[in-house]
Amino acid sequence: MGAFAFAGGPLEPERYRESLADPSAGGYASFEGWVRDHNEGRTVQRLEYEAFEPLGIAEGERIVAEAVARFGVTRAACVHRVGSLGIGELAVWVGVSAAHRGEAFAACRYIIDEVKHRVPIWKKEHYADGNSGWVNCERCAAAPRSGGPEDDHAHSHGPEHGHARTDDSARSTAPAPDYSRQIALPEVGAAGQARLAAASVLVVGAGGLGVPVLQYLAAAGIGRIGIVDGDVVEGSNLHRQPLYGTADLGRPKAAVAAERLRALNRDVRIETHAVRATPDNIDALVAGHDLIVECTDNFRAKFLVNDAALRAQKPAVFASVHQYEGQLQIYRPLPHWPCLRCLWPEAPRDGLVGNCAEAGVLGPVPATLGALQAMQALKRLLGLDAGESPSLVTVDLLSLETRRLAARRNPACDHENPGNAHHSDEQPLELEFETLAEAFESGLELVDIREAWERAHDPPGLQIPSHLPLSELVQGYAEFPAEGRYLIICAHGVRSLSLAEQLRSQGQAEVYSLRGGLAALRS
Ligand SMILES: [Zn+2]
Repeated sequence: MGAFAFAGGPLEPERYRESLADPSAGGYASFEGWVRDHNEGRTVQRLEYEAFEPLGIAEGERIVAEAVARFGVTRAACVHRVGSLGIGELAVWVGVSAAHRGEAFAACRYIIDEVKHRVPIWKKEHYADGNSGWVNCERCAAAPRSGGPEDDHAHSHGPEHGHARTDDSARSTAPAPDYSRQIALPEVGAAGQARLAAASVLVVGAGGLGVPVLQYLAAAGIGRIGIVDGDVVEGSNLHRQPLYGTADLGRPKAAVAAERLRALNRDVRIETHAVRATPDNIDALVAGHDLIVECTDNFRAKFLVNDAALRAQKPAVFASVHQYEGQLQIYRPLPHWPCLRCLWPEAPRDGLVGNCAEAGVLGPVPATLGALQAMQALKRLLGLDAGESPSLVTVDLLSLETRRLAARRNPACDHENPGNAHHSDEQPLELEFETLAEAFESGLELVDIREAWERAHDPPGLQIPSHLPLSELVQGYAEFPAEGRYLIICAHGVRSLSLAEQLRSQGQAEVYSLRGGLAALRS
């Protein structure tokens, strides 16, 4: 057994104690944390611990080594239970053998305190009323890090682990957050504040929308915030993402945002994921959070989050901006509630609609929509949205007009298997040819969607009579023919794939993209 371990079954204190025996030790002190039948005035029937084990073991071993070094004890060990536990079961065991009892007690105390604050363990309580929730101990989170004896019940704080370790130094000096102005609202009060402190929110995208979302959620005292963003800070971001500064250029947004948010509120626990959301990681990212706020500028990520929220049955708040307009939509896991796909079964694909990078935007536009997203998230977590019906809200920041359109569940949208109803994968989207002549022989009509200047600069080896520049299609000056069988061609096969995907999603079955574009052909 290592100095720190997780156990999936009942703990065996007798066996662990033997591992501490040493002829030079005069005694042994131990702490056992048990599962209580109540927390915060609610009756608890059982609970579950979930740990991020590789990181947890590394951090736990570090804590035990610190205790041995600091107090000069002989041996020390700690075992934490994970999985489902009943009332009265042993959740955590700490043992220390030492020459003298004073050091043994002190080291034991040090280990249990540090494990609670630093090892990434989540606790989910199941209550007598049938509800359940991931919880932190509000009293301990709000109190200074003294940890009196009344603190010694079996629970864990949120994951103040790894990257959150810098919190501890900040926490000891930074003043406690003052929530008096929001607690003063009768709809919030101390109970609402406790709900926020117990909540965890995943924010996908730390850009123009994500910055105000992160700032307001951290300031409001959300207990745990996960940030997903794989980008670094660029100079062109700053006008709409003023959480960052010129000194941050080139640094990962997730890391910089975490620093600023910790300085804003010492009690918020920040987890950073400096990656892009992908089909491989999105479900793991969504798991362990109560609510998702989607703040990217691309449809691929929005649908990824939508589908993961549906699978996990978690609420999600979406927004998007285009020039001076913004849209806001919330998904709630209720049978009649529409998802993003219900409203956008034929959503534009990436590369077809300008995002901020290409279309241009004034900073307050995403800031307004981000603030609305933060408000929707707080309303959901506080239960203030009970009377709200599904809707799509549009805001025009030029005319200052706001519209609220009722949104309905689309019966063709399969919420059991999100996303599946909209893929017609029977036919390949891309076709590969060696030469243009071979492509002509396929019987498909070839359509060049490159811009006129591209055609002039780089004419194809054989004449392609059909020319429909993508810019004209996107702006509505030209329309792609609805009937026929087409091979869409561009320079590298990226734009043609986007267009083919969009046409397929609109029901046009016989459109294909030339894989790799003209660049991939032998001349
Ligand atoms: Zn749907």
